[in-house]
Amino acid sequence: MPHFFTRNLFVQVSAAMTESILIHHCTLLTESGAGLLPDAWLLTQGDIIAAMGQAHELPRAEISPATTIIDGRAMLLMPGLINAHNHCSMTLFRGLADDLELAHWLNSHIFPAEARHVTEAMVYHCTKLAAAEMILSGTTTVADGYFLEHQAAQAFIDSGMRAVAAQGVIDFPAPGVPDPSRNLRTAAAFLDAWQGRHPRLTPAIFAHSPYTCSNQTLQGAKKLAADRGAPFFIHVAESRAEQALIRTPRGTSPIRHLAALNLLDPQTICIHCVWPDDGDLEILARSGAGVVICPQSHQKLASGTAPATEMLRRGIRVGLGTDGCASNNSLDMFREMDHLSKTQKLATMEATSLPAAQALACATIHNAALLGLKKSGRLAPGYKADLILLDMRQPHLTPCFNQDLLVYGARGSDVRSVVIDGRLVMRDHEILSFDVQDTMGEVRKLSQAVMKAAPDWNKPR
Ligand SMILES: [Zn+2]
Repeated sequence: MPHFFTRNLFVQVSAAMTESILIHHCTLLTESGAGLLPDAWLLTQGDIIAAMGQAHELPRAEISPATTIIDGRAMLLMPGLINAHNHCSMTLFRGLADDLELAHWLNSHIFPAEARHVTEAMVYHCTKLAAAEMILSGTTTVADGYFLEHQAAQAFIDSGMRAVAAQGVIDFPAPGVPDPSRNLRTAAAFLDAWQGRHPRLTPAIFAHSPYTCSNQTLQGAKKLAADRGAPFFIHVAESRAEQALIRTPRGTSPIRHLAALNLLDPQTICIHCVWPDDGDLEILARSGAGVVICPQSHQKLASGTAPATEMLRRGIRVGLGTDGCASNNSLDMFREMDHLSKTQKLATMEATSLPAAQALACATIHNAALLGLKKSGRLAPGYKADLILLDMRQPHLTPCFNQDLLVYGARGSDVRSVVIDGRLVMRDHEILSFDVQDTMGEVRKLSQAVMKAAPDWNKPR
């Protein structure tokens, strides 16, 4: 068991972990507060970061002839970004129905398209297409929620990504669950099939929302997740219309409704939370439940601006996601960080609100904590080797004084190479883990049926 010493940290590396990557002469994004470390190196062993430091500390004796060496000159090395909310299969519906309000978008376009086009093959290929877009733009982990999630889980494994894959639960006939009375049994079978099966895959449960699931379904889904120690996701308080929909029959807010059903605890991740009132914020803070904000989707659907600044001030655990690309329409987490920070400044009329470092934390270490990925989201020995390298030799990244440029200036297309779980999945903009051309070909074939079924898809609104 060799020891590597760096910055007062020892890491024991298992002899069985033979694969290793050395990235050297790079600029390294260190723990928050310490800034950027020039002329640095990082060494992986197996699936973890074994050691890191500056040039004069390089442990040459520990580098074997089998080590893959990447020259990181003019590159910035940072943790892979984590997208805490996505419906990856919806890549098939990107741009199909833009510029519509949420209820009309869902009921007249998305739900009918899903009923017609979602198949096992569609979920597999379209999830892989999403994985390609995410890897190319520096996302190494995603939390996905959809139906036929077995296929999504397989797509994540085949693409090389790390994922929390959640089987959807809803009280309507859904792809793979034509009889909604079987929705919890289907979800249980999904957990049975995937728990402990692959080191990059965490299975979970996704209850669609308080307005599409009965109390009984919500409590059953949460109990199922809690009994198996799985994360539990739910869309909640996304729009003002949803507030009215819950308040009228139940006399309370969507978040109080979830609290009354005992659904809120640190393993529950509430997606959106655009419209919490003061009491709702208090409940969220007390419960330890996570909140994932999707700023571009909230803007595009005119849902509103989630009070992320106030949530963080109250100690609520806030993460960041893109939502499905039909309501965004991008899966680029660099764009999402930029929007998170700027929408908070506008909503609070305070330029100091949600600074860049906080947006970066939301997309990395905060998201890792929300998803229960204890050793992800930061560059530190012993953490998962999920890494991205940005090419800094570009006009819009020159000069680079500090990490704030990663939020306000960098784009997903600046990512040059990606390591996930200690494996090089993209090098010099080329995905190595699967054939992206083949995946795009499959999705183009699937899109023919979508075009035929929606004759006005090409007409400007
Ligand atoms: Zn969503």
